[in-house]
Amino acid sequence: MKQRRVPVLIVGGGGCGLTASITLSELGTDSLLIERHPSPGRLPKARYLNQRTMEVFRQIGVADAVYARSMPLEYISRIRWCTSLAGDGPLDRKTFYAIDSFGGGSLTDYSADSPCKSTLYPQVRLEPLLREEAARRNPDGLLYNHELVSFEQDENGVTALIRERESGAEFTVAADYMIAADGGRTIGPAVGSRLEGATNLVDMVTVYFRSDLSEWWDDDHAMTTWFVNPEGGSWSSGVLGKLGPTRFDRHSEEWMFHFTFRPDDPARFDESSLVPRMRELLKLPELEPDIIGIGHWVVEGVIADRYRFGRVFLAGDAAHRHPPTTGLGLNSAVQDAHNLAWKLAAVIAKKGADGLLDTYESERRPVAERNVSWALLTFQNHQLTDVGIGLVRGNGEASRKNFAAFFADTDEGRTRRARLNQVIGVQRMEWQAHDLELGFYYDRGAIVSDGTFAPERDPMGGRYTPTTRPGHRLPHAWLEKDKRRVSTLDLAGNGSFVLIIGAKGDAWAKAGVEAAEAYDIRLRVVTVGDDCEYSDAERCWTHLREVNEDGAVLVRPDNHVGWRCADARADALATLDDALAKILKRPPGLVHARDGRRPLAVA
Ligand SMILES: Cc1cc2nc3c(=O)[nH]c(=O)nc-3n(C[C@H](O)[C@H](O)[C@H](O)COP(=O)(O)OP(=O)(O)OC[C@H]3O[C@@H](n4cnc5c(N)ncnc54)[C@H](O)[C@@H]3O)c2cc1C
Repeated sequence: MKQRRVPVLIVGGGGCGLTASITLSELGTDSLLIERHPSPGRLPKARYLNQRTMEVFRQIGVADAVYARSMPLEYISRIRWCTSLAGDGPLDRKTFYAIDSFGGGSLTDYSADSPCKSTLYPQVRLEPLLREEAARRNPDGLLYNHELVSFEQDENGVTALIRERESGAEFTVAADYMIAADGGRTIGPAVGSRLEGATNLVDMVTVYFRSDLSEWWDDDHAMTTWFVNPEGGSWSSGVLGKLGPTRFDRHSEEWMFHFTFRPDDPARFDESSLVPRMRELLKLPELEPDIIGIGHWVVEGVIADRYRFGRVFLAGDAAHRHPPTTGLGLNSAVQDAHNLAWKLAAVIAKKGADGLLDTYESERRPVAERNVSWALLTFQNHQLTDVGIGLVRGNGEASRKNFAAFFADTDEGRTRRARLNQVIGVQRMEWQAHDLELGFYYDRGAIVSDGTFAPERDPMGGRYTPTTRPGHRLPHAWLEKDKRRVSTLDLAGNGSFVLIIGAKGDAWAKAGVEAAEAYDIRLRVVTVGDDCEYSDAERCWTHLREVNEDGAVLVRPDNHVGWRCADARADALATLDDALAKILKRPPGLVHARDGRRPLAVA
């Protein structure tokens, strides 16, 4: 039987696996990706890419390609609740509420906090784009229509049996490590991973279709409209969203409509009943949608008890699954891959020790715990909104009365609208989760704590506080070099650490160069300030850096801060040596260097 050898085997060609492939290629680490299907999926699935995901894409060189085709922020900057899309009854086509979303409209702080805007690009188009980018970087590194049949592992590596699905031919792949980006159906159960949490919450149906809805969709900026009719409620009355691909306003060519069934409702798999139900919910009896695909999706909020099983790492949906509210599924999957890839690359290149790989779980699992519980909360919030609107479940008559009172030009109407305004103050957690998206941080992992406390987080997830505290994402500030604007987040890349220092950071600069040599790693020393390599004309970085002009901030290859020091140290080299050793989980480099052992090999 043929055998192929590769440092990293990636199973699954969804957003997680493809991001892992591209990131590893960018880091110079070879990988092989196996995907069961002949081509990327045919359902839109997730479509919201948050700022952090776009920062990851910016770092690995795919953001421009995404932005060139994706839906610009201005077209996804509003979320609405309406009674129906069409119809001419007294309560039809009325808007209960509209809220700014994802950094659009009044949410101006988003653009100050990142070089990237959030955008909308459904998986059905994102996956082919990522596939193209992955193949360009690693032409022999992707095998579609191939599936993982079984695998075993020992202390030296993983041996996987792969089947080419068309011919049935089988071969083995010997890999140092395997990333389970398979959505959780194959590898997790095989390694004994337990998914804990709430499952079977609802059965979601997604109808993906082409139609001209411009006559009825009257807000070009709205990304999604929730319908609440007297018989339904925000989930069961349906959610309609734009998908583009070339028109992003009311003339969007493609749409998706989600609605729910109880998991035990026999009608949920009866496709002939779906379009009539959709017509009824939208109040568009003449609708003749050109159906592209229909998908079923059981909403759950679960997380794997462990992420690492020897040489196998669970990532993306294999490690956690969320309700779709707040759009955390795909975004977390991309961010898992990004966190894991630089660690695998470092360990494979013997720049980091095996313990560095343990930090993938200790860093990412707590983030998933928070994200899963957040998505469950925002999922539940819809019941609150329904009540705020005046829906009385199971009592159409009472609901109709409440809806009429809501829209009336009366004192009661004004009170009802004010009440909903208060309720939406809770519901905004779903579309204004700026801090949840950018402010997550790692408490335990490949970082060196400086004993400070994290800034207090906004419990509603909105207000983000940038900080250079170790474990947090490096704050964004625009700098300038050779008349070119560069974000602080552009300084790290290609597996390089960055030591950011100020005009008085000479001792750190010298220590950085020596430490890089002792560890045989890429470490860029960057000076920011007046008469430095990068200027900080607007004083943004000066304001954000939280260290003095003679201090230093060490940024990891994934743009999270690994260590910082507020000011100069007489023992700068030993201090930095200690920090790198703790981050890379290996013995201090200088000790080895002084023994004359170079380049350093990690045991
Ligand atoms: C119908 C639907 C609608 C969704 N809507 C939303 C939404 O609106 N918002 C949101 O945030 N999330 C949504 N999600 C969830 C979101 O799509 C996932 O969170 C995201 O796809 C996770 O990416 P992933 O790469 O981890 O896994 P996946 O995208 O599931 O990719 C896993 C890949 O592994 C492959 N694979 C599995 N087993 C094997 C094997 N043995 N050998 C080879 N390949 C294998 C599969 O074919 C698949 O391509 C939706 C999901 C579905 C199914």
